[in-house]
Amino acid sequence: MHPNITLKTGDITKEHVCAIVNAANSSLMGGGGVDGAIHRAGGSTILEACRKVRAESYPNGLPTGEAVATTAGKMPAKYVIHTVGPIYPGCGDRCAALLASSYANALKTAQKLQCKDIAFPAISTGIYGYPKEEAAKIAYKISKAFLEDNPDMKIYFIFHKQSDKEIFESAIGVESN
Ligand code: ADP
Repeated sequence: MHPNITLKTGDITKEHVCAIVNAANSSLMGGGGVDGAIHRAGGSTILEACRKVRAESYPNGLPTGEAVATTAGKMPAKYVIHTVGPIYPGCGDRCAALLASSYANALKTAQKLQCKDIAFPAISTGIYGYPKEEAAKIAYKISKAFLEDNPDMKIYFIFHKQSDKEIFESAIGVESN
């Protein structure tokens, strides 16, 4: 495991990091899963900020693979970085590239915000149906590549379920304990 990457189980809304990532949908108006949890925990200022983003920058919704930051409202994090992962298997031969873009653009956004730590959920692997092993390999590869140019960033992967953390570990070749 890369020394700047940490896997944890828990609730991402409680993470004390500069930015937490939301597996949003393109409307940015909230949804189920981690998206719903983030909006509930952060309060209405997040939805207000998302409405503003839609009105000013993305009237047709945030495209898949892109990322945009808002306040984190009442949560301990400073920012929420919303990214839209691909919907599997409809993403076809672009699935891997789109999921990689979600991770890379979220990391770039954190860097622009001068964040030194960021927490990710397992983007697209819930309601969006992306195979968890494949998603883990992509998340890890993009994170490692980013850390080569940004060695002082700390990246956390937060899993709601212990079994998902174990799937991630085995996909990237780490013994789980
Ligand atoms: P997507 O629509 O991108 O698939 P989901 O929210 O359905 O997003 O699921 C993404 C992952 O987030 C799943 O592994 C789910 O278990 C996890 N998840 C749900 N709630 C939380 C939470 N509060 N903290 C961290 N991970 C969460």
